Amino acid sequence: MKENRVVEKDAPLRKDDLIVITGAGGFIAGNLALYFKNKGFTRIRGVDKKPVYEWYLRVPGVECLSLDCSQEEACKRVCEGAVEVYNLAADMGGMGFIERFRVECLRSILINTHMVEAAWRAGARRYFYSSSACAYNTLLQQDPKVRALKESDAYPAMAERGYGWEKLVSEMFCQEYWAERGLKAFIARFHNVYGPNGTWDGGREKAPAAICRKVIEALDSGSDKIRIWGDGTQTRSFMYIDDCVKGIDRIAHCDDLIATPINLGSSELVTINELVEKVEKIARVKLKREYDLNAPRGVAGRNSDNTFIKKVLKWEPHTPLDVGLRATYKWIEEQYRARKEGRRVIE
Ligand code: NAD
Repeated sequence: MKENRVVEKDAPLRKDDLIVITGAGGFIAGNLALYFKNKGFTRIRGVDKKPVYEWYLRVPGVECLSLDCSQEEACKRVCEGAVEVYNLAADMGGMGFIERFRVECLRSILINTHMVEAAWRAGARRYFYSSSACAYNTLLQQDPKVRALKESDAYPAMAERGYGWEKLVSEMFCQEYWAERGLKAFIARFHNVYGPNGTWDGGREKAPAAICRKVIEALDSGSDKIRIWGDGTQTRSFMYIDDCVKGIDRIAHCDDLIATPINLGSSELVTINELVEKVEKIARVKLKREYDLNAPRGVAGRNSDNTFIKKVLKWEPHTPLDVGLRATYKWIEEQYRARKEGRRVIE
């Protein structure tokens, strides 16, 4: 998308420039707000449609707005004075959610449609959009021993029904706002993100959190079994949250990546069975597997080809799964205990 166009250099971002982050009551955007706060930025505006008391992370000093970003007027308010906008709001969850609620997923198109327009009208210098590996052609993901997906594999398009198509079309919006209107837009295709302070129960959780919780439940109830969705041979890669927020920052500040979708994911491929084994090792337990072949299982295999990100950013997500899982397990165990004691927790 860069053609031969001259890209004007921005003034360096000042610590008191306004950074807007949507979806900030959720997992990744909440951690992103914390990341920018820790970097010394003093004006961060977090936005989420959830009431503020339900936000996973409420970072001291970060403005918290409870607004629905699928509404045009709300987006105008959200983007007032913004220098950089990070749009991570979406109605989403793990496979159980995105296979069951395709309409909800598709309706997230309203969020990006209004946010990118509002950001452009407000004169924001940079706009970041969180896309997904679900935007890739599903026909390339029918074998657990898949080759990793590279950026060009999104087209010819055959994205995940609902959620994936919404991401693909929103990517195009971002690309055209750059092509026609000069908004510096950045697009990362996240591959499964996990870590503390994310959903771990209730139906929207993803595989690493769900498996940690199931192992904890088995230990707590004295059960020797674990129920696994599918036959456990599905392969995936999982990116730790710290790598994700660092990656977002690097991508959104690299002018070589304007309007150019890029993978943001780990390339450490595991089967779901291996993921279960890793969690069992952390919990020092061995459980009997019960495979639920009727449960949602998603594509057979998916991995992130990191050739492009390594070339452009000289960096890639690198936290080993064993390390990230240990921190995640510990956090979910604490949440589980707290909930049992009747205390309020993130779910
Ligand atoms: P999350 O569900 O924890 O956070 C998303 C937040 O967006 C939620 O708090 C939700 O209330 C909010 N939201 C939904 N609709 C909204 C609206 N209309 N207005 C304002 N807020 C709204 O999810 P997450 O894991 O933090 O995902 C963040 C982004 O990353 C999403 O765009 C998601 O599609 C993308 N993504 C995540 C993963 C992953 O593994 N977690 C993978 C690929 C892509």
